[in-house]
Amino acid sequence: MKKNSAYNFCIPDSKANLIDDNPLPGRSIFFENIINLKYINEKTEESFIQKYTSSPHFLTPFIHEWLHSIQLDFIYNNYGYGGKCAYLTEQYPDKSCKPTGFEIIANLQNKKLSLKENMLVYDILGKYATLPFNQYLEIFSETWTKFICDSLSGTQIVKNPIELLKETPKEFQNIVRKICSFK
Ligand SMILES: [Zn+2]
Repeated sequence: MKKNSAYNFCIPDSKANLIDDNPLPGRSIFFENIINLKYINEKTEESFIQKYTSSPHFLTPFIHEWLHSIQLDFIYNNYGYGGKCAYLTEQYPDKSCKPTGFEIIANLQNKKLSLKENMLVYDILGKYATLPFNQYLEIFSETWTKFICDSLSGTQIVKNPIELLKETPKEFQNIVRKICSFK
């Protein structure tokens, strides 16, 4: 990974362009060069104020990437992996499912919401979740990041994230149901 890359991400699979520099397996999480927690706190708050991300909590970037990894784990566990990453093939043996976990992820990466749905997503999750690149995967992560972070007081969970989802408009809940169905 380039030393000055300025974002965080979770790879669904071994990416060819990362293999030379960093032969890490699928579900690996990468973080930008983190200076200190104060820096993360300020940057997260700034993103939230600019309505780019869904929560000002300093754990937001970590929870977001962790949720990507959890979603991959859920899909690969249930449908098998079926791609080329040796680590994931060993971790998630073939289940003779059609589509395979790899194909489900590839399919999700290409799905996008309508303009009307995106207007609602913008109101609740911010601009990042409306971008077309990997949109279903990003909405999954950003939705649960928001409801987990909004349930926290400091680092203690004081509310139920599911209850917070239930307080959103029905149309938004339908979008969440759709992106969580994985197919
Ligand atoms: Zn993401």
